[in-house]
Parts: sequence; structure tokens; C-alpha cells
Amino acid sequence: MHEYSIVMSLMEQCEELALANSAKSIDQVELKIGILSGVEPALLAQAFDTFKLETRCHNAKLVMNIQPLVLQCRTCDKQSEVQERTIICPVCNSHHTQVIDGEDMMLMQLVLDT
Ligand SMILES: [Zn+2]
Repeated sequence: MHEYSIVMSLMEQCEELALANSAKSIDQVELKIGILSGVEPALLAQAFDTFKLETRCHNAKLVMNIQPLVLQCRTCDKQSEVQERTIICPVCNSHHTQVIDGEDMMLMQLVLDT
């Protein structure tokens, strides 16, 4: 499953950060998940609970912030947040937009127990 490999690399990232900060464990992992990232939050949470047991994340709480799509319109120059998968500007219906957020998944914050 796609989410499993995402979580495995996420765990590696967490382990490295915990080591770099000499933390005993990780209390909280906060993620930003763009609605166009292709990541299914429920599956990600399940994979996280499965993999965390053998890592410094074993007591960690997973916080997922869903990031809506943010479009920058080149026609009317407005920035809009949309909840659906579209590239059409909701203000002027133009197709000349640029996706500026909502496409990626990022590690936002780690709460470390040192
Ligand atoms: Zn527009």
C-alpha cells in the first residue's frame, strides 16, 4: 500500500530528528496533508499505528491537518481555497490558475520528549 511506504519514510525522518535532538521519544507528529497529495488520511493513520510500535514514535499521537487546494488565478489575480479537485478559479471561472498549496504532504511539527 502507498501509505505504508509514506509512513516508513516519515518514521525514518522522525527517528533522525529525535536522534539529532537527543530525544527519548516522540509525543506528537503533526502532518499537513494536501487534498491533492493522493494520501488517504484514514489509511495513513492505520499505517502509522502499525509501524510506530518499533520506533521512537511508539507513544506518539498523530495529528493530521488537511490542507485544501489553494489556487492562484492569473486572470483575476485572486487567491482561492477550494475543497474539490479543480483548477478552475471560483471567482472568475478562468482556467489560468496555478496550484500553490494542497498538493503535498509535509511533516509540520514534532513534539519531542527529551
Ligand atoms: Zn480568477
